[in-house]
Amino acid sequence: MRYRGRFAPTPSGPLHAGSMLTALASFLQARAAGGTWLLRIDDLDQARCRPEHCDTILRQLEAHGLLWDETPRRQSAHIEEYEAAFEQLLARQPLYACGCTRAQLAQTSIAAIDGAVYAGTCRGQSKNLLGKAVRLAVADISLQFEDACQGLLVRALAQEVGDFIVRRADGQISYQLACVVDEQAQGITEVVRGADLIGSSFRQRYLQQLLDLRQPAYLHVPVLLDQYGRKLSKQNHAESVDRRSVSENLLAGLTALGQQPPASLQGAAAAEILQWACTAWDIPRLAATIADKSGRLMANVPSW
Ligand SMILES: [Zn+2]
Repeated sequence: MRYRGRFAPTPSGPLHAGSMLTALASFLQARAAGGTWLLRIDDLDQARCRPEHCDTILRQLEAHGLLWDETPRRQSAHIEEYEAAFEQLLARQPLYACGCTRAQLAQTSIAAIDGAVYAGTCRGQSKNLLGKAVRLAVADISLQFEDACQGLLVRALAQEVGDFIVRRADGQISYQLACVVDEQAQGITEVVRGADLIGSSFRQRYLQQLLDLRQPAYLHVPVLLDQYGRKLSKQNHAESVDRRSVSENLLAGLTALGQQPPASLQGAAAAEILQWACTAWDIPRLAATIADKSGRLMANVPSW
């Protein structure tokens, strides 16, 4: 099957160094395989997304030579498909209403490798799903897959992932469910994303099983951290990637991904740098950055 990859930014702000790094890795992985690179705009959450951010993201990608194939898919244009998937899920697996407040969740959730796990408080309490968040009751099974960068990843679904939300209290289909519908619709063969989304990948692989969807391969890129050891994010006010320093940005990104761009590429045009990078793209070097003790890059696997 011909390689089809994608980059799926949420237009709640411009791209920062962390999201640009994921874009670059996913672009190189697709181009090095001679495949197609697609763009998806994850604008399902209309309260957080702005059209002007979407425009800025497209301009940032273009300026860096990260040119996508085909028309970008906008999640906001496919809500009926997500709702159909929800109905399908409802017919196949127990779903239940969850009325827990943020404060209750903070108190009851259990810390696990990929973040907080829901304690199952509302399991079996209410069959009326209207007006409340809807959770999927996960089976007590173990899931595993071979990640192209992180190696074999294994999670006990009930203990380390837990029952997760598939429809929010306001009726919006969750990111997890929308995402698997999108991967299927776009014919994605490999998902390249940040290691902070490993937990999401397990949820999505489980949903793919339940809905009989094709399972893409997965590659989780190490997460870029700021000087305080936090993941770069809009919440942490990470700076927007500057379109005036394309060459520096690309070379810094390649270096952060463990690639070793020659000094002769300094100041070169984006196309020239990317041409070199596609030929030289090396996953073992990328994987080696996980063990890097410099603190600039690490997989988001908490040591506790
Ligand atoms: Zn609950």
